[in-house]
Amino acid sequence: MNEIRLHNTFTNALEALHPVHPGQVRIYTCGPTVYASAHIGNFRTFMFQDILRRFLRARGYSVLQVMNVTDVDDRIIQSAAAAGVGIREYTDKYIHAFLEDIDALHIEMPEELVRATDHIEDMVALIEKLQQKGMTYTSDGSIYFRISKFPAYGKLSKIDVSGMQAGARVDVDQYEKENARDFALWKAPKAGEHFWETRIGPGRPGWHIECSAMAMKYLGDTLDIHTGGVDLAFPHHENEIAQSEAATGKTFVRTWLHAEHLIIEGQKMSKSLGNFYTLRDLFAKGHKPSTIRFLLLSVPYRRQLNFTEEGLLQARNSTERLRNFVTRLKAEQFPAGSNPEVERQIATAENDFDAGLSDDINTAMALAAVFDLVREANTAMDRGAFLQQNAPSAIAAMEKFDAVLALLVDDDEEKLRKLGIGLAKPRMSSEQIEGLIEERTAAKKRRDFKRSDEIRQKLADSGILIEDMKDGSIRWKYK
Ligand code: AMP
Ligand code: ZN
Repeated sequence: MNEIRLHNTFTNALEALHPVHPGQVRIYTCGPTVYASAHIGNFRTFMFQDILRRFLRARGYSVLQVMNVTDVDDRIIQSAAAAGVGIREYTDKYIHAFLEDIDALHIEMPEELVRATDHIEDMVALIEKLQQKGMTYTSDGSIYFRISKFPAYGKLSKIDVSGMQAGARVDVDQYEKENARDFALWKAPKAGEHFWETRIGPGRPGWHIECSAMAMKYLGDTLDIHTGGVDLAFPHHENEIAQSEAATGKTFVRTWLHAEHLIIEGQKMSKSLGNFYTLRDLFAKGHKPSTIRFLLLSVPYRRQLNFTEEGLLQARNSTERLRNFVTRLKAEQFPAGSNPEVERQIATAENDFDAGLSDDINTAMALAAVFDLVREANTAMDRGAFLQQNAPSAIAAMEKFDAVLALLVDDDEEKLRKLGIGLAKPRMSSEQIEGLIEERTAAKKRRDFKRSDEIRQKLADSGILIEDMKDGSIRWKYK
């Protein structure tokens, strides 16, 4: 077996995985901010985390993964107020939708999925600890973390804060590196805003403190792995390190993993830019859950994923190729015996798959190993060189791969039905449509109206409407 090595943002190097608790890997994952539906950019990052945890489990580790749900922050408070409902009620529906989405994509549930608003007490206790250590100050009822008291500030995102003006503060949850400032741990209530009455005063938590509090509550002071998209490294993760390490005096996270963005037309897909697709947008256009799963996992997490229609088409074909291969393995009668050459190819594929994933979760390498096997085995079958005893080994290998890839079970229709969406029939090409129209015209000419009606119906079933024009020509369009 290959040594598992991961690229740690902190050291900017590949490092071997050595969990704090041998045999168990403890992972914290920044989860969704539930002020709107997650988009497929978000799922790019969640998909990477799914592959990571599935691979670690396949390698015999137990995984303890905690994912938070940010159900209180600036945007949620604004959106809930605009909708005239409480934040709990406002966020409930997006949490529900998120759970449905991850189920549709076969993303495994983390061991703990925790809501920020259920952990206000833990955050208050952590802020008190920071107060006792003299790391904070209060201004107008809000409590700030004084970053000049934490000399290591900036070590993850490599920013230099030496010239920073002491006492300059930032109140918003999200800001740019140029605006590195003392940040809010606890925010004084504003008129009409939701707040909590607590020992540190009335108010609500800043975004960053929730992840420190929940991560350490469930995983201990030092986590093995912390994941998120690259946009979270600053300020969110930088602030998490400052809060946690200032409170405990221990290393907060051993390995930081950051997924590169999914981009569309050269830009990061994001809710604020409005250039996003939700999963349901894609399902409604006829794309299958498994297609999207394939597409999202196919590009290694440290490479940007350029989202295109072409990519979706390839993902669909590739998934079908895998499924067809397993169907063939199970259905076809092969000549008796076992071909050692095929057995060798299977073993190579298994090793290469593991080597790819061990190399910083390189899914492209892992998939290449699988498709090499598919190609070689299909060729051997066509030549009669794939033998009966090879089938069980090949099936076992495919099942091993699928413990990580989760693409083989053909349950797309069922997943969509659960969401109340029908699986759209693939559209016919214009050549196919025109061919059928010609055939219908010919049938009409020979007065075979049964056949011409059948063809009209067949086209209608595929979503194509035809119109007989007065001049005898025929027009067609998609319904
Ligand atoms: P949010 O709901 O905005 O807090 O984001 C949830 C996760 O999705 C975080 O880990 C983000 O870094 C990640 N994320 C946001 N936009 C993208 C994108 N375009 N591509 C990949 N990951 C993203
Ligand atoms: Zn977080």
